[in-house]
Amino acid sequence: MSLDERAGGLLTIDLGAIAANYQFLARTAATGCAAVVKADAYGLGMDRVAPALAAAGCRAFFVALADEGIALRRLLPDADIYILNGPPIGAEGDLVAQNLTPVLNDLDQVGRWAAAAAGRDAPLAAILHVDTGMSRLGLDGQETKRLAAEPDRLAGIDIAYLMSHLACAEEPDHPKNAEQLAAFRAARQTLGALPGGASFANSSGIFLGPDYRFDLVRPGAALYGVNPTPDKPNPMAQAVHLQGRILQLRDVDRPMTVGYGATHSVARKGKIITVSVGYADGYLRSLSNRGSARIGAVPLPVLGRVSMDLITLDASDAPDDAVRPGALVDLIGPGHDVDALAAEAGTTGYEILTSLGPRYARRYTDGNG
Ligand SMILES: *Cc1c(COP(=O)(O)O)cnc(C)c1O
Repeated sequence: MSLDERAGGLLTIDLGAIAANYQFLARTAATGCAAVVKADAYGLGMDRVAPALAAAGCRAFFVALADEGIALRRLLPDADIYILNGPPIGAEGDLVAQNLTPVLNDLDQVGRWAAAAAGRDAPLAAILHVDTGMSRLGLDGQETKRLAAEPDRLAGIDIAYLMSHLACAEEPDHPKNAEQLAAFRAARQTLGALPGGASFANSSGIFLGPDYRFDLVRPGAALYGVNPTPDKPNPMAQAVHLQGRILQLRDVDRPMTVGYGATHSVARKGKIITVSVGYADGYLRSLSNRGSARIGAVPLPVLGRVSMDLITLDASDAPDDAVRPGALVDLIGPGHDVDALAAEAGTTGYEILTSLGPRYARRYTDGNG
């Protein structure tokens, strides 16, 4: 018996959809298009996703951590690989050895990268990050002015891009978008004639219009099917199909409670199924009494609390022949995509994807499903 048949759940990842999403975003942006593959390509498996993106034409990749970059370098010997969190203290030499390009997020990181560049024949590439309103990473206004006044701090560094990051891009009417754009343009002026281009937009930022796109866009979530335009229909192809296996079927014909804490009471006659997926698989506990699965188009509401390894679903409306031990139900799939499950959980598609656990049997397809 294969893992696919034994596993409590099946996670099918459509690399063809991810490649098509990359090409759609690159066409829409009509400028350079990188791919953000941090956190194991948002939980979908960087070792499979990154080569598929490279085959789709992507040359520039962003990860968060140095070690993610080292792993990616083994997969893609020739790609431009950028480390969003910058060089870890003391790891500058490792980045140089692996040909990884850091994002420099403050003057300390600038100083450490300049020190690594000192005495080398060729300059070391970097991205310079200015904060325009996230207050998370990036040079603040004072640091930006200081760097402009002391350009020698960048000696030996070849700035590939000046970048910043949007805080509210998925809300097109949010005034912060235009404020950040103005602040980014002001920072470019302050810094004067830096070599290289500019990079500003994440997935949603691409859809704010041409002013936001500059020379390199940095989509992540939209590649994996998350809707970058939550107030409009999702233009992205779905990349994830998540199924859970039915373990037990229970006919209910008298009042009873379901699960830990007895938080749900069944009143009507019906069917309850127990499915072999739980919060240890990233089926978030906040889906207790709120989430739903599907058999075909029939919704199966989560009854009671999500347990570590199990959920219980109301299958009363599902056809009898589909509800049997060993059969599969859709947890994320047609008609109930990653954003729909995220809404039920009170979170984002980002968190749903990056929470997908290691116990699923993972399958990669290159087709339309
Ligand atoms: C994660 C990240 C991105 C990608 O954002 P998405 O919303 O997933 O497209 C882009 N830029 C930076 C700086 C990031 O941290």
